[in-house]
Amino acid sequence: MTKRSPLTVEEQVAKHREYMHCYNQNKRSDVFRENDTVYHRRYRKLNRDRCIEYERKWRAAHPGVNACNNAKRRALQREAEGSFTPEEFRLKCKAYGNRCTYCNEEVPLTIDHIVPLSRGGSNSIENVVPACKHCNSTKGTRTYSEFLEYIKVSNT
Ligand SMILES: [Zn+2]
Repeated sequence: MTKRSPLTVEEQVAKHREYMHCYNQNKRSDVFRENDTVYHRRYRKLNRDRCIEYERKWRAAHPGVNACNNAKRRALQREAEGSFTPEEFRLKCKAYGNRCTYCNEEVPLTIDHIVPLSRGGSNSIENVVPACKHCNSTKGTRTYSEFLEYIKVSNT
């Protein structure tokens, strides 16, 4: 049996480089990404409270980003055109006095599409108004004017 001489520093560096190269290659592969998702899902399940707290803090530090991303995802599913930034939505809310377009309540605002995405509306800022969660979900697939009509009828 031949005794292996210890690696020189250069050899160790080269070996580490090779390892990192493989590591990064794997990282880019879909297989790794798949495992990553599975890992994170498991981690989230085991550390639910900590994750929820972290996500709450992240949302507070990045207002509107989640809502914008959700709208973008829904728009993509509907193959709707257009997108807007959290900043654009913030300005839109300001223009509406940071109140719900429909009930005028000063409550946390959600993104409402004047013409719903499900009815071929776009996801551009022109087709978006701030609405409270309650009005938004009651509005459902109605358009802006249909919903105003609905409110008028149900208030009489
Ligand atoms: Zn409302």
